[in-house]
Amino acid sequence: MKQKETSLNTRLINGLTVEEIGDEHIGTSYETPLREDAFDLDDELKIELIQKHFKEIMQILGLDLTDDSLSGTPERVAKMYVKEVFSGLNPKNKPEVKLFDNKYDYNQMLVEKDITVFSNCEHHFVPIIGKAHVAYISSGQVIGLSKINRIVQYFAKRPQVQERLTVQIGNELKSILQTEDVAVLVDAEHLCVSSRGIQDTTSSTVTSFYSGKFDQDETRKEFLSYVYNK
Ligand SMILES: [Zn+2]
Repeated sequence: MKQKETSLNTRLINGLTVEEIGDEHIGTSYETPLREDAFDLDDELKIELIQKHFKEIMQILGLDLTDDSLSGTPERVAKMYVKEVFSGLNPKNKPEVKLFDNKYDYNQMLVEKDITVFSNCEHHFVPIIGKAHVAYISSGQVIGLSKINRIVQYFAKRPQVQERLTVQIGNELKSILQTEDVAVLVDAEHLCVSSRGIQDTTSSTVTSFYSGKFDQDETRKEFLSYVYNK
């Protein structure tokens, strides 16, 4: 067998090189793959280290870091990674959720639709942009509406694959609301598909999570009618 020319492509994933896998997006688990020591370093140290490494990437690309427009970029990127776009990796940033008694005895589904999703694809570190639609049927307690948005945002602020994002939101809501009756639909554009690679700017990816009553055709249809009938 011909030897690979570059050492960069020799790490095997499921017996394939990164080049052979290409743009196939494989997710390995519904848990975000984090190491045990993920939070041994505090945010400030992470920012300092990422800044150093990002500067190196820019230097390798040949950019002049003494240029006024570029000199602050490593620091900006490092802060943005740790404090914003990947802040959902850290469980301490998980939104605190208060539940309220379902005083109105509202026993139909509640749908929170068109929740803005900004995430990043973990295979290319470029944005995933879309909408999430979430529904649940109360088992006696209800959640403040904006908390649903916050839960979506928390899991979106990680390097993600869309399937995992969808399941993580669904499982979290099931556990918080103590109900099986939860539905999540995510419809999103992946910039790794639209801005590079195949460069398809019209396709979007839809993923869903249905549990409890939403496994039944009728309930699911009702949910989808709220989501898609504008
Ligand atoms: Zn990607």
